[in-house]
Formats: sequence, structure tokens, C-alpha cells
Amino acid sequence: MPTPPSSIRILPSALQNQIAAGEVVERPASVLKELLENSLDAEATRVQVAVDRGGQGLIQVQDDGAGIHPDQLELAVTRHATSKIASSEDLFSLHSFGFRGEALPSIASVSRLRMTSIPTGSDMAAFIEVDGGRVVDQGPAALAGGTRVEVRDLFVNVPARLKFLKTTATEGKRCQDVLCRLALAHLGVHFEYKVGDRVALDLRPATDLRGRLGAIWPPTVIENLLDVDYFRDGHHLQGVISAPHSTQGQADRMLLYVNQRPVQDKLFLRAVRDAYQGRLLNREYPQVALFLQVPPQEVDVNVHPAKSEVRFRDQQGIFALIRRGVVQALEDLETRRFASALD
Ligand code: ADP
Ligand code: MG
Repeated sequence: MPTPPSSIRILPSALQNQIAAGEVVERPASVLKELLENSLDAEATRVQVAVDRGGQGLIQVQDDGAGIHPDQLELAVTRHATSKIASSEDLFSLHSFGFRGEALPSIASVSRLRMTSIPTGSDMAAFIEVDGGRVVDQGPAALAGGTRVEVRDLFVNVPARLKFLKTTATEGKRCQDVLCRLALAHLGVHFEYKVGDRVALDLRPATDLRGRLGAIWPPTVIENLLDVDYFRDGHHLQGVISAPHSTQGQADRMLLYVNQRPVQDKLFLRAVRDAYQGRLLNREYPQVALFLQVPPQEVDVNVHPAKSEVRFRDQQGIFALIRRGVVQALEDLETRRFASALD
């Protein structure tokens, strides 16, 4: 005979958040991504980041965005509380990075989080401090503008997660990568990135993609970039790609975006690789930063909590469009090379 059933109960909210954190907060870089996205959603023009011990000691993001009202700070760290959507229709015409209302409570459940903020137009700043999912302190604070979030001791209360982290250097590099990826899609925003006390990156507002890439990619790559600018049926593929036979690069310079959102999309990747097929030398990889703009109703970003995967309504059509856009840029180059060889 089976043992009698255990009683069913609703889990305490701190535990619910910790479970949700398993999906949203994989490593320090995922925390930084969520905090940066919040700053961008708040229309920040300047974002200062400080990271210590690969993000395990500290991840701090300070912005000059819209801020949060003191009486809403507690809501901001409550699960499923968001200022970004109000109805299910909004889900299909998203204009913000966030919409799940899960990031802050998830992060706060696996760290010590302190958020200080002042709403635009007010002179009343306030802070809230959450430790392992429990609010431990809140009150008035001093802050000139915007929002500052400090995340300390990430995963100290989740030893299983700590074990999966790589070295400080590797986790730190991932944090920097996350910042660079977002910075490429927000050229007008000034990003500063500090590792300990050292300014590792100072990305001043740029007027074009190449300008900002120049601060991130080596000059040898920048010199050999081709422009992509391809329109079809209300879709737009734009950005830069490396000319074949110009670099022997690493595989990780494939920066892909859908509607300004960095994605790790297999279909997108395949379409780009496919376009380069037969044009690359052995151990040569395409280096690309490509931005696909599609009508919001044609793409679902609510596939994964980290929102790095997307689903297109017309997968084949999108594949063909990306491939075509890249091939066209490569063929243009081939035509130019051919013409200059004849000269
Ligand atoms: P989401 O971004 O999905 O709404 P979050 O948990 O990331 O959920 O944030 C909850 C809410 O807190 C946001 O909807 C927003 O109103 C507020 N918020 C968070 N970070 C900031 C920030 N840097 N500036 C202004 N408001 C913020
Ligand atoms: Mg968010």
C-alpha cells in the first residue's frame, strides 16, 4: 500500500523566488544583464557598472533613468510585479526588455540586494535591502538621480549554484560581454564598466555602430567589415559582417539582435553561417553584429525566462531573409573585387 499523501501547500514566497531564480539567474552575467535591461527600460542615458570578484563579490549598476517611487520599492522586488505590461495584448507588442516582473525578486532571493532610487521630478530618494529574499531594511536615502542596485554575495545561500561557477576571470569576462552586447544596441547611452577600481571600458555615446565596435573589437576586425542593409516586406536586416579571408577569428563574435534584443537564436546563426558557406578558409569564422527588425507581432520573445531565445511566426521566411541579406553584402564585395582586378 502506498504511504498516505503529504499535504499540498503553497511554498513560502522566498522559496518560490529561489526556484524561479534557477531559471533567470544562472551566473553573475545573468544578473548584470537583468539590471542593465532595467536601466535601459528606464530610459537611462548613462549607466555605470562595477563588478568585483567576477560578479560574485559585487555587481553594481547605477543609472540616470526614471527611478522608482519610494512607496513602490517593495513592489519592485515582489514577484510578478511590473510597470511594463498590464494585459496579455501587451505581451504581443512589447516595447521593453522586461515584462515578467521576476528579475529583481529572483536576484534578491539568492544574494544581498540593495536598491536605492529617486523618481524623476522628486527630491525624495529611498532604499530597500533584501537578504536571501527577505526585506531586512528600508528607508530614506541620498541619491542625485536614477537608480542604483547593488548585488552582493551572489549564491552564498545556494552552494549548488556556486559550485557551477567558473573562475573569477571567466565569470568577469562574461559580465563584460553582456555589457558590450547591450551597448551595441544602444549607441546613444554612455556605459562605464569598472572591475574593482579600474575602469575597464568607457563606452561614450557613439553615432554609429562602427564607432562603438571600435572600442570593443580589435582594429584588424574593424578594418575588414562590410555593411549589411537589407529590406524586405517590412523586415530590415542591418549591421556589419566580416569580409571573408580577412581574419582568423574566434567563433564568439556572432552578435545577433532581434528588435534590439540580443539573442542566441539557432535559426539566425544557421542563416548567417549558411550565407558564408564555401567562402571561408579553414578555421575562419564570420564576425558579425547584425540587427533584425521585425514587426513585434511576428516574434515571440516569451519563450525562455532569460529571453535570449525567440520564436518567429514564419521561421523559413526569416531564415531566407537573413541569409539573403548577408549573401548580398558578400556578393557586393566579390563584384567590387572582381571589377578592381579587371582595372
Ligand atoms: P520587469 O523588468 O520584468 O518589470 P524586474 O523585477 O526586473 O521586472 O523589475 C521590477 C520593476 O522595478 C520594473 O517593472 C520597474 O518598474 C522597476 N525597476 C527595476 N529596475 C529599475 C531601474 N533601474 N529604474 C527604474 N525602475 C526600475
Ligand atoms: Mg527587468
